[in-house]
Amino acid sequence: MTHSRPFRPLFLLILCFATFSTIVSAQVQIKPGRDPNQSIDQEYTNKIREYTTAPYFNSPLTDYLPAAPDVPTPKAVLGDVAGAPGKLPYAEDVYRYMRMLERASPRVKVYSIGTTEEGREMIAVAVASEQLLAKLEENRARLTKLADPRSINMDEAEADRLVAASFPVYYITGAIHSTETGSPTALMELAYRLAVDNSPYVKAIRDQMVTLITPVVEVDGRNRMVDVYNWHLANPNSNWPPLIYWGHYVAHDNNRDAIGLSLKLTRNVLNTYLSWKPQVLHDLHESVPYLYDNTIGDGPYNAWVDPILTDEWQMIGWHNVSEMTKFGMPGVFAHGNFDTWSPGYLMFIAATHNGISRLYETFGNAGADTVERTLSPNEYQRTWYRQNPPLPKAKWSQRNNNNYQQTALLTTMHHFANNGKLFLKNFYLKSKRSIDKPKNEGPAAYVLPGDELRAGNQAELLRTLQAQGVEISKATAPFTVEVKRKAGASNNARPAASPSPNASPTPTPKTEPRTFPAGSYIVRMDQPYSRIADALLDYQYWAPNDPQTDIYDDTAWTMGELANVEVVRVVDTKVLQAPMERIRNEIRSPGGITGTASTVYLINHNADNALVSFRYRLKDVEMEAAEEPFDAAGRKFNRGSFIIRRAPAEEVRRVAGELGIPVYAVADAPSVKTHPVRAARVAIMHTWINTQDEGWFRLGFDHLQVPFTYISTQDVSRDPNLKTKYDVILFGPVGRGAQAIINGLPMYGNPLPWRKTSLTPNLGGIDETDDIRPGLGWTGLQNLQKFVKDGGLFITVDDTSDFAVNLGFTAGVTTSRSSRLKAVGAILRTKTVDANSPIAYGYGDSLAMYCFNGAIYNINNGVGGRGPRSSQRATGRGTPDDPDVPQGRPPAEIPEPPPRVEVWEAPPVTDEQRRNAIGLIPPNQRPRVVLRYADSRDLFVSGLLDGGDEIAQHPAIIDVPSGNGHVLLFSTNPMWRGQTKGSYFLVFNAILNWDNLNAGRKLDAK
Ligand SMILES: [Zn+2]
Repeated sequence: MTHSRPFRPLFLLILCFATFSTIVSAQVQIKPGRDPNQSIDQEYTNKIREYTTAPYFNSPLTDYLPAAPDVPTPKAVLGDVAGAPGKLPYAEDVYRYMRMLERASPRVKVYSIGTTEEGREMIAVAVASEQLLAKLEENRARLTKLADPRSINMDEAEADRLVAASFPVYYITGAIHSTETGSPTALMELAYRLAVDNSPYVKAIRDQMVTLITPVVEVDGRNRMVDVYNWHLANPNSNWPPLIYWGHYVAHDNNRDAIGLSLKLTRNVLNTYLSWKPQVLHDLHESVPYLYDNTIGDGPYNAWVDPILTDEWQMIGWHNVSEMTKFGMPGVFAHGNFDTWSPGYLMFIAATHNGISRLYETFGNAGADTVERTLSPNEYQRTWYRQNPPLPKAKWSQRNNNNYQQTALLTTMHHFANNGKLFLKNFYLKSKRSIDKPKNEGPAAYVLPGDELRAGNQAELLRTLQAQGVEISKATAPFTVEVKRKAGASNNARPAASPSPNASPTPTPKTEPRTFPAGSYIVRMDQPYSRIADALLDYQYWAPNDPQTDIYDDTAWTMGELANVEVVRVVDTKVLQAPMERIRNEIRSPGGITGTASTVYLINHNADNALVSFRYRLKDVEMEAAEEPFDAAGRKFNRGSFIIRRAPAEEVRRVAGELGIPVYAVADAPSVKTHPVRAARVAIMHTWINTQDEGWFRLGFDHLQVPFTYISTQDVSRDPNLKTKYDVILFGPVGRGAQAIINGLPMYGNPLPWRKTSLTPNLGGIDETDDIRPGLGWTGLQNLQKFVKDGGLFITVDDTSDFAVNLGFTAGVTTSRSSRLKAVGAILRTKTVDANSPIAYGYGDSLAMYCFNGAIYNINNGVGGRGPRSSQRATGRGTPDDPDVPQGRPPAEIPEPPPRVEVWEAPPVTDEQRRNAIGLIPPNQRPRVVLRYADSRDLFVSGLLDGGDEIAQHPAIIDVPSGNGHVLLFSTNPMWRGQTKGSYFLVFNAILNWDNLNAGRKLDAK
């Protein structure tokens, strides 16, 4: 090392020259196409041509297959060429091929990168020249330094030396979306080409960079998709079942998990990214004809990524389009309606970690059939950014798709390889600028106070950041810094809350000093991965008048708000001087037993999610909930706190320690009214129409070890005695109306089985049926209503709440949907209306919740109609406050106006209603509003909110007694994408108190 230093200038000069000449020669000399001196696999080549439906759907890069003695082609596993009709390999077949390649070629290495929820393997395949592969580890060491410029003291010259010596890594991921079936075979063939093709064009890639390939990201879903396709091949004249399950929990949303990191596939790709330090993460999708490089997409771009990155998107993307246009391939474009705002996409792992995120949409047939495809005008019409659009109608094959995928990747990787030093230097610069954040754009840090009420939820949020590679420190002493001044008039519980978008700026000082206690967590922004922390912890603002009206996904994800823990953005760079130490271990909240008495155990209820795990882990221990706050052990306990009178001390200590729950041992139980907290028997009910949104509920329950039985609407249709099996039935959002839930799929044609058989070994395991078509039916509806009358709790969310309201589960509630309101995956503030309700236990007076144009509820004490409301005066004489006066008679006496009724309240019962009270709901059966949407000016927390007046103040969560049971309606969604952990406990409170939901209720007098 040391004696190479004097030679560095010369060394650099040579390398710079070499790099320059490479770019020039690449642009001038290297033409895409085969090496005439290398023989081709003629049989394979003939098949490529046969399966490509028109010559212009292929390119000089993929219209042949080079031959290499002793190296197997994909045919060795597929029995035909990649993209052949009727051939869809299982993930294991793809892996088998990659490992055959590894054995046959010194240019291929296969790595296991983890397993899925169902235990299947995920892999990454590295392909490069044997020279580069031999230097992988030393290259990784250099990339690690470039990724963390602090390690070289931000020394630019040293960075240049490292860049000169390094080669980049380009990471491609395929088949995250299981109905998008083409990329595994395309990537098998691509790996083969990269390993054996001697054409200068491909050789330039192999000799200058490492291609890293995960051919199947959603392995569980891939295998189910292949099952369905094989069933289709075996039943050629039948309709085939839609892919009702992809991964174990969710379908398409597996590409929205780069925020919550709840799925193993996200963790596995993230960990691979963090350990390989690739410069690009390029994810392959299939939903747009014929190739849309949606990296460029459309605005608004994510506000936290480096502008160097957005320039790279443009440079690489337009080059890609241009090269393919020259090949004469129609339908290749880069601009389109995908906005690049959310960091939830898998590819965004690179964007938020100083790499380059990329994504292709190609055109797939969801299977390997060759079929005539007819496009809609908006797909085939020429626009300014799509001068060579797709054809209105074309015969389309999986092979065409594979040609497009490989051609696009080879051209873009050739470009990338030839400009590898530029992109390596950019990688360094982006990392450096991330470290410079405090002294440039800021903030300096985020602080999570050491006196946080929900230490468990706080620790979980911090663990998610740690998994992102973010460094966390802990203050060893109190410190004082300037923070944004609290909004004075607001009565929000969260000091960090953003003001309403309509609020006028205030002239008061912008900051005020705040002292944070020792033990506060500090997320410093002078670290290489500051961008991901900044993007996740900050607030989002999507302007209601943004020119982008076709909003692609959620507009908000502010992690602290959704976790219900306080996160303070600190611009004051003094925070970086606070006494602190870097945390090396995974962050856990402390738990265990305080106090020596062993008669009674007390646990404060702060809506920390670990509490529900505790209840179910100790399911045989009797626990009670306090119905009022109390003081004990020298501290205050909230309403809902657990009181345990008899329990094995060692078990309590162990479980509380593992879950991070503080338990207080006292000699005597407090004298406070209590009711039992039972480990309720829970069923999660799904339809056979859509299982994704309820999948996020299953995931939340599984992660917190809350047991449940998984039932379908078909099971419910057959079971008139649901209450004998379950205490609670949870019905997550379906995305379809009541009619579809009742009817299911149309009963035309053949049955659509979803069952494990020898032909379909990967179906089943989650749930099974001989025919997915029948829905809940009217019998099922009756059974559900009987379940509630028998004393069960039925929990519904968003559209299934509409189902419950519209089908008569909830007397006194009406629901409507707005046309003006725009709350597109936004975070809105709710206010607690009835803190005595067990559903509100552990929460404060306000809570930020995820909302997607939630239902607008009104409640009433009578059945039918909204009831009387105070109205404006009619047209007539006088001022707005005067009575009108009919002329020619003495003025009549005006009755006392009804008392003022808030939007979330039912109007009081009138004498008219009571005269013949057929429709009057008895007081103990009336809807009980637990949470409501905040007032208009306080409603906005993060994301896009427009027309909020319409939903402001309306009920957000309503507990409706019905017979002996209850129906719980959510207008918001409490369990969404593993992000909303702060609102999970609304569901858990309902479950734990299912048979005492009337606790604390004040009944109307009449
Ligand atoms: Zn997709």
